[in-house]
Amino acid sequence: MSKADAGQTGSVPHREAGHWDELAWVERDLFRDPDGGIYEPAQSRSGEYREAHVVMSRGCDWGCHFCTEAIIRAPGELRRSAHDVIEELAWLVGQSYVQRIHFVDDNVFPQIAVSSRRETEALTWTTEFLDGVTKMREGGGLDLGWRGIMRFEDFLKYEERVDGWLEKLAGSGCKLLAFGVESGEEVRRWHLKGGAVTNEQIEGIIRRLAEVGILSKGYFIIGGPDEDAATAGRTIDFARDAGFHLAYFALYKQFRAFVEVSRKLDDGRERGSERETHRRKYATFEQLREDFGALILDCRTSTEAENAFGYPYSSRRLEEAHRAMHDLRKAGFAFRGLFKYNDFHSDMDVHEEHAEVWTSGREGRTRGFLRTVRRAYFEFYARDAFVDIYRRLTKAGY
Ligand code: SF4
Repeated sequence: MSKADAGQTGSVPHREAGHWDELAWVERDLFRDPDGGIYEPAQSRSGEYREAHVVMSRGCDWGCHFCTEAIIRAPGELRRSAHDVIEELAWLVGQSYVQRIHFVDDNVFPQIAVSSRRETEALTWTTEFLDGVTKMREGGGLDLGWRGIMRFEDFLKYEERVDGWLEKLAGSGCKLLAFGVESGEEVRRWHLKGGAVTNEQIEGIIRRLAEVGILSKGYFIIGGPDEDAATAGRTIDFARDAGFHLAYFALYKQFRAFVEVSRKLDDGRERGSERETHRRKYATFEQLREDFGALILDCRTSTEAENAFGYPYSSRRLEEAHRAMHDLRKAGFAFRGLFKYNDFHSDMDVHEEHAEVWTSGREGRTRGFLRTVRRAYFEFYARDAFVDIYRRLTKAGY
């Protein structure tokens, strides 16, 4: 029986990467949206492409201090064979007419720059993957494209080791690469995630990618120990000026602390009333549901801008923001399309957090934090330049 007849192998949760290839691929049209329609493959924003999500690996060998991967999924990454991935892509293209793949791995390629990584193995996997997708595209005359996320450090090492790295990426149909930048300040970035990539190196990577037609997305964090309006401001400025085509501003949360507390409550090292245990074990967050579009369009004066975004934008800047929002709406852009897990602490001033999320100043934590988050989205999205970028993104199948 072919593996494409999904559901046949029995899903044993293997812990060995090699065993993964024996498992069935996911029958994506089993998943339904709330209205009963097929959830995936989904149409791209322009309606031109069909997109599916594919997982090639689990876990991560990096150890960013804000991330739970290293403490939950140790020991490090498990990855399917490139051969199995290519076969699944061919199956998706043949059976579901998929033209865009979103790889939802923590790292789209093996993490070659982590010291514990075997370089040859990483290079072999990546070369096999890129060659395989390129052949599929060329052989079938397919407009197959993909996107994924990786670390800058890995990118630089691949660029050093693989001849024609950028051209190979573009030739394999890479449309967009995302990177965790986290902060616009180098020292702060180093504290958050280790590694030692400079702002100049980041700008260079984004520029070189753009030269071969690959778009880029930056993931940034707002909040965290010692973060205040000034440090977050430098992150916002860097996100806007470094050349990224998309930016996501995650709201800092102490997930590792929650995992640790949860484990202590589970194994009895800490105890409390049922109510207290539940509160500490299951941190609750709300989704940030603010309508940024309306917020921007409703803002008419510098005073209103300062109240909403923490910055007294000039009337000229507000005019540009309004123009951009109207044009973006016409092009189908909506802020809610950006947010999938942008949960936040709506009552930071009331509950004690495991660590400071925001250095509040006089205005109170929640208010100051929210104004900065709004400012981040205002600065990056509500500008004339982003209107063209958005058109390029949707054309590319985003
Ligand atoms: S590289 Fe990404 S997945 Fe890996 S530890 Fe850092 S944030 Fe987590």
